[in-house]
Amino acid sequence: MTTDKSKYQTFEEFGFKKDILKGVKEAGFRLPSPIQQQAIPVVMEGKDVVAQAQTGTGKTAAFGLPAMNNIEGKGAVKLLVIVPTRELASQVSEELFRLGRYAGIQTVAVYGGQSIGRQVEMVGRGAQVVVATPGRLLDHLRSKRLKRFEPSMVVLDEGDEMLDMGFLEDIEAIFQFLPKERQTLLFSATMPPAIRKLANKILKEPVAIDVTPKDVTTNVDITQRYYVMEEREREEAMVRLIDTESPGRAIIFCRTKRETDALSTTLVSRGYASKALHGDMEQRQRNDTIASFKKGRVDLLVATDVAARGLDISDVSHVFNYHIPFDPQSYIHRIGRTGRAGKKGMAITLVTPLEYKELSRIMKVSGAPIKYKEIPTLNEVRKNFMDDLLSKLEAQEVLDEALQILDLVNDADQLFEVASRALSALMDAKEIAGPDRIGLNSQQVQNMIRRAKERTGPYGRTQKGSRFNRPGSRSGGRPGGKGPKGAGSRPGGYKKKGSS
Ligand code: AMP
Repeated sequence: MTTDKSKYQTFEEFGFKKDILKGVKEAGFRLPSPIQQQAIPVVMEGKDVVAQAQTGTGKTAAFGLPAMNNIEGKGAVKLLVIVPTRELASQVSEELFRLGRYAGIQTVAVYGGQSIGRQVEMVGRGAQVVVATPGRLLDHLRSKRLKRFEPSMVVLDEGDEMLDMGFLEDIEAIFQFLPKERQTLLFSATMPPAIRKLANKILKEPVAIDVTPKDVTTNVDITQRYYVMEEREREEAMVRLIDTESPGRAIIFCRTKRETDALSTTLVSRGYASKALHGDMEQRQRNDTIASFKKGRVDLLVATDVAARGLDISDVSHVFNYHIPFDPQSYIHRIGRTGRAGKKGMAITLVTPLEYKELSRIMKVSGAPIKYKEIPTLNEVRKNFMDDLLSKLEAQEVLDEALQILDLVNDADQLFEVASRALSALMDAKEIAGPDRIGLNSQQVQNMIRRAKERTGPYGRTQKGSRFNRPGSRSGGRPGGKGPKGAGSRPGGYKKKGSS
């Protein structure tokens, strides 16, 4: 299931028409996501597909692009997408419209609570794509209201959610009305027995695709945590966490080359053996840095995703996400650098309250159990350090030379003096500094999570206001335009042009 093995590394390689490619380009997609790499060629061959993939993985384009690529001219509904909720119907219809507009594709969203007459009219006017919720669709089909409705491709999206919501009967009934000669795709985040049973009924010799990143996210050897701080506290938070964690060997991921350089310089000035690794470095310099890290002369490697790609370094105790990665796949790749070969690993992600939305999407898509923790205060770091020191002292073997020195000390006062100075020497080796408190406390984080949940729909998606009501839009409209709050935010799963 890995991206690297696929031969489809660009959208051009799929052989799409130029109008479809234009839509892809305008949408800002640069590289196909794993589900797109795997599903698009199979769908283009006309095969049925059962795919395990979650929202945010780019599955809409994975079925939408090949389907729309095959649509010639106007006049009849060729692609039917069945989704569980109205929000999703709007979202998917909007995405398909965006990708297919240059190829002359018209989409209509069909769901309950909306004028029946208008939906019928929009479909009758020659839309080629209908995105519908089961109840309303069945209603239309039973009353034979939809004209020119001959879908040659049917997509069942979020199958498990659909069954959880009790739509199984409706779906089975809908299929009675659909052409027997058709291509059918089933997408589901999970594959419980009920979904497999449904798949057996509606699909013919389907190709199975699975892009759920189970291997890394369920690796119990990797502890995954996130910490929340304000942007201005990021660097201090990083230093504090390194101080607390005392990583053996760590990779710290940054978003830009400049950031790797700046952070590495700070870390060196704070006494850490750190080096930056990024794409602008000469090959020799890169190799030297990697060799130093492998040999343990450098403990902290501050790197960009691109520079760290393909690095095979074992024994990494910690992965720090100084900045959250752009998409779930990168998160998985990053944290997969630790916890290898049965060893324990720690993956730590820093986020600002604004970035929390990205983090929760990564958690949802990857299923990664990332737990919140408060950034330790300066006093806690000191206490940790002292506890550490005490346990190290307890474990320390007593050397003959030390006994010889103690022999020279003859009274208790002097003994106390020597012990105090010896401890001070050990503590001096480590500078513990900075503000006492960094980042948001538990209460503030709970409020932040609550607010984020309020902004998202019942299925964890950011609810969008419909843009279908705008004049000139070709999609089915939502009367009154009562879009839920949080309108307009993009649930984007992949890096868009200019987003960095
Ligand atoms: P989906 O899983 O279809 O809901 O897609 C999640 C988000 O990722 C949507 O906002 C898409 O526009 C975006 N997206 C899908 N594929 C790509 C891609 N290859 N590159 C960049 N963004 C993408």
